[in-house]
Amino acid sequence: MNAATAQQAIQKAFGKVAGQPITGGKITVVDNKAALYALIDQFSMQDGDKSPDGKPWEAGFAEKYIDGRVLGFARKDSSIYIDKTGTDPTILVHEMLHVNASKDWQAAMPTSVDEGVTEDLAIQAVKASGFSASGSESTYPKEREAVGLMAGVVGSGTVTNAYFNGPTAMQAAYEAVMGAGTFAAFIAAMRAGNLEKAKKLLRKASNYAQKVTDLLSGWWVSDADVEEVIRIYGLVADDEKRQVRNAAQPLVTSLSNMGQRARLRIALNL
Ligand SMILES: [Zn+2]
Repeated sequence: MNAATAQQAIQKAFGKVAGQPITGGKITVVDNKAALYALIDQFSMQDGDKSPDGKPWEAGFAEKYIDGRVLGFARKDSSIYIDKTGTDPTILVHEMLHVNASKDWQAAMPTSVDEGVTEDLAIQAVKASGFSASGSESTYPKEREAVGLMAGVVGSGTVTNAYFNGPTAMQAAYEAVMGAGTFAAFIAAMRAGNLEKAKKLLRKASNYAQKVTDLLSGWWVSDADVEEVIRIYGLVADDEKRQVRNAAQPLVTSLSNMGQRARLRIALNL
């Protein structure tokens, strides 16, 4: 995949949700891993970065501290560096996605969440343009597993929207389903690199259909319950809106309060 193809693949898969043209970044292809490590060392020293154990960055630290599978990286100024010996066909799309991610997303999400979602989106975009993603299996597999569970709660459309437009609605949607404070707990586990704990937190994951059913099928449905369903509907992406509608539809008819029935029908477009 060359730069133009990668950019087109992202535009085609996510241009609509991004709401603005996908940018290609400034790509530099280097000859081998040693050259990539040298650049990481150079930038890390320039940026005043520290090693995981707190030492000021020195030449040689990239090789020492960074996962040997690293195939490229993107910087905040939209420059992208790729090792041409890499064998993962999603790498260029992956780095280009970083360049197009919302600044709010980048600021709020720990690296593990960012990388897991970035690779998931890269695989989607590569496949949607008819290319094979074979060779990407060892790129962030654990991170992808954990964010996959997160997407099981909020829906992949809502995750994609958060990636390009900021995570506030996704966080609110997650907590609407899982309870107050749960998103911060999940993020804290991911930030600490404790992916097993993050997965455990999601073991009893719920979803919109379950939540909407709970809210609308009690013996007494309050106006607050109705408003919560409408709030959730407003937070989520189109695919997830469909889940909310499908769950609400059969329950709305059985509501005895005519005002609540009308409110839901209008708000959820039933
Ligand atoms: Zn990445």
